[in-house]
Amino acid sequence: MRIVRPCLGGILIVLKKKIVIVGGGAGGLELATRLGNKLGRKRKATITLVDCTHTHLWKPLLHEVAAGSLDDDVDALSYLAHAHDHHFSFQWGRLTNINRERQTLQLAQICDEHGVELVPSRELTYDILVIALGSTSNDFGTPGVKEHCVFLDDLHQARYFHSEMLNLFLKHSVCPRKKKGVNIAITGGGATGVELSAELFNAVKQLHNYGFDNADHGVLNVTLVEAGERILPLLPLRISAAAHLELSKLGVRVLTNTMVTGVTSSGLKTQRGEFIDADLIVWVAGIKVPDFMKGIGGLETNRLNQLLVKPTLQSTRDPHIFAVGDCASCQKEGGGFVPPRAQSAHQMAAHCFSNILSLISGKVLKPYVYKDHGALVSLSRFTTFGSLMGNLMRGSMMVEGRIARVFYILLYRLHQVALHGYLKTSLIMLVGGINRLLRPRLKMH
Ligand SMILES: Cc1cc2nc3c(=O)[nH]c(=O)nc-3n(C[C@H](O)[C@H](O)[C@H](O)COP(=O)(O)OP(=O)(O)OC[C@H]3O[C@@H](n4cnc5c(N)ncnc54)[C@H](O)[C@@H]3O)c2cc1C
Repeated sequence: MRIVRPCLGGILIVLKKKIVIVGGGAGGLELATRLGNKLGRKRKATITLVDCTHTHLWKPLLHEVAAGSLDDDVDALSYLAHAHDHHFSFQWGRLTNINRERQTLQLAQICDEHGVELVPSRELTYDILVIALGSTSNDFGTPGVKEHCVFLDDLHQARYFHSEMLNLFLKHSVCPRKKKGVNIAITGGGATGVELSAELFNAVKQLHNYGFDNADHGVLNVTLVEAGERILPLLPLRISAAAHLELSKLGVRVLTNTMVTGVTSSGLKTQRGEFIDADLIVWVAGIKVPDFMKGIGGLETNRLNQLLVKPTLQSTRDPHIFAVGDCASCQKEGGGFVPPRAQSAHQMAAHCFSNILSLISGKVLKPYVYKDHGALVSLSRFTTFGSLMGNLMRGSMMVEGRIARVFYILLYRLHQVALHGYLKTSLIMLVGGINRLLRPRLKMH
């Protein structure tokens, strides 16, 4: 696992492999942890994780942060502390470019909140590089989206939505707007849009309990807008129909076959000529990888700027560069592409780990085969739906209610186990249970 190079005087220098992972999300952090535990601990390689933020929060929880049902101050994980415990190092920085000839990557300068430079732009060298920097929402070039919509791509944006939501309810609570209420529009009827719609109704109930006098169920108007013919287009039809029905019962106005053509400060314009009034607009329609990734370092990318990878997860043009998670375009066996999901990132991280070990010990790398275990959607405390797939079932099986909730939570627990092991995850669950008794049900600040 080491490179042995001759040098002056015939003395041999043993160089440890430098493995750099960019992006400490669902896939990248699991990979860094595994590599740290396996290679970093025995000093067989140096593992460096680079992320543009200080803390990790599993992305599928962001809509709960936005609605206030999850307190990220409690749940977010410090990269530096985690790196220390798992024998890798962490560098705070934002990737801007890759130089494949020199095997370096470029990180942007770091500035403080006033724009004053703290750390100049810098380079890191690598022997093996893994790109795991996820994806962001795709505005499809729709006018007004960047200026007037809130995205839910990171913790900062989720917190921003949360504080805007609290401000709206505060205003309405003190000076109620007769017949108008609080209008929130969500563009994108995928899992995030559906789950956020339901979370908002949970939030309004808690706000009422905590003394926001005029905040009750009837005051919140949520419009969920989907361009396709049904919400949850990637899930089986019956789940999408059941979710549509549940959301309508909650009071969500679900608009399908509705293309948003523009956004203003006061709402959405649709292709049919309708204007949807909104005090707060969330854009969660589709994904893409940030534009700087287009053709980065001469690597092959697709129209969503995802890196094209071979079944081994190595980039098509460079065997020393891997990509995992949302930023990788990986073909599935039998056609189609691996979907941008947390379970894909989790599986790819485990597979990339094995392939990196094979690469540095000169063994043959194995192809990654995506295993679809189904998909679950949580409508907050109201219900959970989904389909499960596995060896015991032929095709998919629809699950609902408590059983579905257990499987929904299981995906997050698997992520935690990959990061912390079984013992620490059990303790985290215990503390979580105690916190549910001790802490407010809604974050109010
Ligand atoms: C609100 C929401 C809800 C979701 N719900 C579900 C769900 O229920 N089930 C499901 O399967 N999937 C869900 N997803 C999708 C899932 O979160 C992603 O598929 C998964 O997180 C992808 O993992 P990743 O490791 O590729 O990227 P991410 O988890 O997004 O991590 C990327 C990391 O890269 C860092 N980064 C980004 N750019 C740079 C840069 N230039 N330099 C350095 N670091 C960088 C980021 O800070 C981040 O830490 C949801 C997504 C969202 C936004």
